[in-house]
Amino acid sequence: MLIVILFFLCLWLTALTVLWFWKKPLFIATWREPYFAETPVLIESDDWGPGGDYQAERLRNLLGSLATTRDSRGRCAVLTADVVLAVPDVAKIQDDADNRYFRKRLDTDFPEIFEAMRSGMTQGTFVPQLHGLEHLNGEAFAKLLGDGDSRLNDARAHADWWDWESLDSPLQGHYVDGSQLPTTPIAENKARDIVETAGRLFIEMFGQPTLTTVAPCYLWGDAIEACWSEQRITAIQTAGYRCLGRDGNGKYFADPTLIRCGERNRYDQVYLVRNVMFEPTDGKHTPDSAYAEALAAHRQALPLTISTHKYNFTRSDTQCRDSIAGLQRLLSRICTTLPHVRFLASPELAEWLNGNRNEITNRFNGETWQGLSQASQYRKVGAFLYRLYYRHPKLAWIAYLSGLIFPAWFVCATSTRDS
Ligand SMILES: [Zn+2]
Repeated sequence: MLIVILFFLCLWLTALTVLWFWKKPLFIATWREPYFAETPVLIESDDWGPGGDYQAERLRNLLGSLATTRDSRGRCAVLTADVVLAVPDVAKIQDDADNRYFRKRLDTDFPEIFEAMRSGMTQGTFVPQLHGLEHLNGEAFAKLLGDGDSRLNDARAHADWWDWESLDSPLQGHYVDGSQLPTTPIAENKARDIVETAGRLFIEMFGQPTLTTVAPCYLWGDAIEACWSEQRITAIQTAGYRCLGRDGNGKYFADPTLIRCGERNRYDQVYLVRNVMFEPTDGKHTPDSAYAEALAAHRQALPLTISTHKYNFTRSDTQCRDSIAGLQRLLSRICTTLPHVRFLASPELAEWLNGNRNEITNRFNGETWQGLSQASQYRKVGAFLYRLYYRHPKLAWIAYLSGLIFPAWFVCATSTRDS
């Protein structure tokens, strides 16, 4: 018996030594990531902003449902809404002899929706975050409109109100010109102008600067990050990668292809990562699959960042009702099965990652909550092993073949229970 134990101890020690020299930078980088003692839960929802008046009621219903779900501190669930601040004023662009671009603003031209947002802010269920000044490239849009491009026929036919979400996908990029493929990044001076205008309008509308942002269609590059940095945007929301553009076939190309929560760019902006997909209107990413992703994120002591786009709530009545009910079911299940759930908005998580750790402040209604705590060393070791296991199949196989999976499993199981 003693010989068997000694054999395995020697085998594991040898395997760990080899792994250390083989994967040292990976282990160190993974260990330096943030690990949470509590379970931060965020809801990231893209594309809110100008739309049909009926969307105000849909938003109120969604926020009403979030108000009924409470975390371990009694805070209600909060939607981090990625807001588009304006849409093209199609009639005005058409009337202009020089085809200049004009916009309709969210606050003044869509007052019902804006009012629903404002009351959600006061209630604590709605925190706005900049998505884009528009969800398209204004200059390219105006040019295509003047050129009679058939992709804008629908906009021409309904100049008084036309929904940008019906636009061809390559034309929905904001910081690139997608009127021709491959896409081209917009000029730096134009990018600076757009981001500066967006920053100013955001403060005019919501009373606070946007500390965080997510680019329309996940399309942005270094020059845009520089512009965001000039506007004091300190964190960038991602889906775990950054797309620079689309190639001649419309296919996205990414650089970097992989981003982890807490990583920083050259401007010291911190990246946030969505890791739970809830898009039931697509017929996939259901409450059950989202819950499985939430469990995996919790095991790794990561924030649970749920991605759910506006269209889940703004298409048919039935789809909206199902999406609201599904989201509520998902949140209730998370709250009843995972320990110490903390509802947060993305700028609050960003502030925590940027060192403001004592208090969580919702800057849009002034509420404060106790700061988040970091995982204990033992919990961190378990979550670290889970991160390696989930992300690196080769390491998982080595663990199975060498038998290291047994002690690793013991640490993971006991440390998660401990959290
Ligand atoms: Zn979007």
